[in-house]
Amino acid sequence: MTVNNKNTILVTGGTGYIGSHTVVALHERGYRVVIADNLSNSHRFMLDRIAEITGQAHPFYAIDLCDKKALKALFEQEQDIVASIHFAAFKAVGESVEKPLTYYRNNLVSLMNLLEVQQQFGVAKLVFSSSCTVYGEPDTLPVTEDSPIKPASSPYGNTKQMGEEIIADFTNVSGIKAIALRYFNPVGAHHSALIGEYPNSVPNNLVPFITQTAIGKQQELKIFGSDYQTPDGTCIRDYIHVVDVAAAHIAALDRLMNHTDVQAFEVYNIGTGTGYSVLEMVKAFEKVSGKTLPYRLTNRRQGDIEKVYADTSHSNKVLHWKAQKSLEEMMHSAWLWEQKLNSQTHTSK
Ligand code: UDP
Repeated sequence: MTVNNKNTILVTGGTGYIGSHTVVALHERGYRVVIADNLSNSHRFMLDRIAEITGQAHPFYAIDLCDKKALKALFEQEQDIVASIHFAAFKAVGESVEKPLTYYRNNLVSLMNLLEVQQQFGVAKLVFSSSCTVYGEPDTLPVTEDSPIKPASSPYGNTKQMGEEIIADFTNVSGIKAIALRYFNPVGAHHSALIGEYPNSVPNNLVPFITQTAIGKQQELKIFGSDYQTPDGTCIRDYIHVVDVAAAHIAALDRLMNHTDVQAFEVYNIGTGTGYSVLEMVKAFEKVSGKTLPYRLTNRRQGDIEKVYADTSHSNKVLHWKAQKSLEEMMHSAWLWEQKLNSQTHTSK
């Protein structure tokens, strides 16, 4: 595919989990991609992996978005940027409770810097990573984009709510148009197993914990709560393949770039619309891997939502996007990625 420089997209957090898959998807769509990442929670070798998949290296800036001067220098260097996709943020719920100011400072200052600098450089389009965490424990299911926003249960969740509010207020007056994508639970990996989720320590999320248990890095999966008001007593989530999540960013970008009826700020649910329980996830993994997963039913985890899944009709209709991949594909790719990770060692950061 010929790449036109005028179609340059800045991807912040482009070496991270969803960012790296989106860089690949953008490249496949013919966009030129510039990556900015401070590598605080990701690895430099991801750049090589992305290059291996796409067949070329992508310009990379190892900058912290809280450093406005460095961000300005990037925009000065890369005059052809037409839009940004902003992934770069801290994302660990528990850590955010321990270090609230670190989370507020990092996630909000970086966003405000990006908005300000891209406006200065006339870059009028932004896609923002938001989260279904903004809905808290929903009153009715599935949740639509109009469902009430609930008080955040962690500083991390609050940075997503505040991030949306900052963008809404700024797009009112700045001429920038933005789309926030509220992800449900992204899981799985690229089919090449070259990129995927790379937890730096013991994973908090379910699927990496399952695959690490299966490979022997963790002893057993603790299932947090079996007395919820759900058919099998375990929590329900809307798990979505990360490749489908990446595709949603292309759809959002297409909308921002090619449609005239776009509001200054729009939000979309990015899920499959189907909820699975933790036990169903365990069974799906066992089926795909042929392994028996050691697990134990334990106490509830503080702050967990009982059940949440998306109404995706708005994103399906307006973004012309729909999640394609099955639960089996999610588990299969996650398992392949875990196995490949274990067959290699990485010393470089
Ligand atoms: N979960 C679990 N054991 C774990 C990790 C997660 O039982 O080791 C459960 C968790 O209680 C929730 C679901 O798996 O019901 C998804 O958790 P995750 O942290 O992946 O996503 P989130 O809670 O942010 O939706």
